[in-house]
Amino acid sequence: MQICPHCSKENPDTEAYCYACGHILPAALPGLTDSTTKLADVYESLEPQRRWGTAYFDRKSRLQLAFRDSGESLNLEIAQSLVLGRFHREPGVEQPDVDLTPYDALEKGVSRRHLMVSREHDTVVVMDLGSANSTYLNGQRLLPSEPRILRDNDELRLGRLVVRVTFV
Ligand SMILES: [Zn+2]
Repeated sequence: MQICPHCSKENPDTEAYCYACGHILPAALPGLTDSTTKLADVYESLEPQRRWGTAYFDRKSRLQLAFRDSGESLNLEIAQSLVLGRFHREPGVEQPDVDLTPYDALEKGVSRRHLMVSREHDTVVVMDLGSANSTYLNGQRLLPSEPRILRDNDELRLGRLVVRVTFV
């Protein structure tokens, strides 16, 4: 096991990037045999692209959502955080920032407030908001309120709505 220097989660020794936050792991850093080198200094010296790998989300990057079934796509600017869901008439429930109704959200079981997408450092994290039909990241079900790192070319599924995510 190796410990992520960024979020302190345990990762298998063979992994290069942390499953939880996307940060590069000690195993991916050659030349750390010199015990006088401080790990923190090595990390600091890395370019952000190297530090975050395929999770690196540039300040100018946008998130492209490609909807598998309709073939349509949507480009999102992530300033801080966005809630994906469906516009609705429910009193007392806040509207989502992004309405997925045009992509068959209702038929595919997307909740009114389904998923939050947030920028964190040079990465993007997703968090299920307790949706009725769950969110899946590359086939794995997300626990409600558990943030997970997003990588370029990941597959997200909101209920039965399948979306390919790319950083553009
Ligand atoms: Zn981590």
